[in-house]
This record gives sequence, structure tokens and C-alpha cells, in this order.
Amino acid sequence: MVNCIFCQIAVGKIPCFKIYEDEIFLAFLDINPWVLGHTLIIPKKHYRWVWDMPDDLVGQYFAVVNKIANHYRKVLKIEFVMGWIYGLEVPHAHIHLFPDSRGKIAFYPKEKLPQPSGEEGEKLVAKLRMI
Ligand SMILES: [Zn+2]
Repeated sequence: MVNCIFCQIAVGKIPCFKIYEDEIFLAFLDINPWVLGHTLIIPKKHYRWVWDMPDDLVGQYFAVVNKIANHYRKVLKIEFVMGWIYGLEVPHAHIHLFPDSRGKIAFYPKEKLPQPSGEEGEKLVAKLRMI
């Protein structure tokens, strides 16, 4: 969809801090993170809601999310990673992952963390990236 920001990220028209990519899915850091490493996993094809995706794709989707969550558990040496399906912020199916977020998230936080840019952001992306 032309006016969908996630569709534009999926085709590379808008840059992102890419964490994982395959033919069907893309994961990248949220530019307004609620915790360090806040990640969005999307299907590259436009679906309005996760619930609109065909069954076989939902299975693959969850396997990718699981892979990324377990990667974060390993590289960040943490146990807890919260997954969240909401969907009202951007009208393109997406799943949030919040690594190490226990006790750290007050929905909607007044002050968001700085964007994953600069030297600190580069280090974080290098640590989390799976591709
Ligand atoms: Zn879209």
C-alpha cells in the first residue's frame, strides 16, 4: 500500500534498523523504543491485522518471532521477552517484542527512549542483528 509506512519500510523506501529479514518477514528496531531493543516484526505483504493473515503464514510468523525472542534471550543474557500484538498505531500487521521489559514499561510512557541512532544505536543493532 502506497501510504503505509511499514510497506515502505518493507520495500526499502524508508530506512530501518534491520534485525532480521527473509522472503516473507522483516524485523527492525522501533524508532520510538519503549525499552532498549524494542523490535517490530512485520509481514512484508500488507495485512491490516495479524488476524487477517492465512493460517500457514501465521505459523511461520510466530516461528520467526520465536527465533528473534530466543536470539535476544541469548545475546542479551535475559530470560524475559514480552511479545505484544496490538495494531492500532500503524495499520499494517506487526508484533512488538520488548526484551527485558519486566517492570520497565508503563504504557504509554511520557518520555520515550532516544532513537536507536548514533554510536550507542549502532552497537545495539550490531548486537541484536541476525542477518
Ligand atoms: Zn502496509
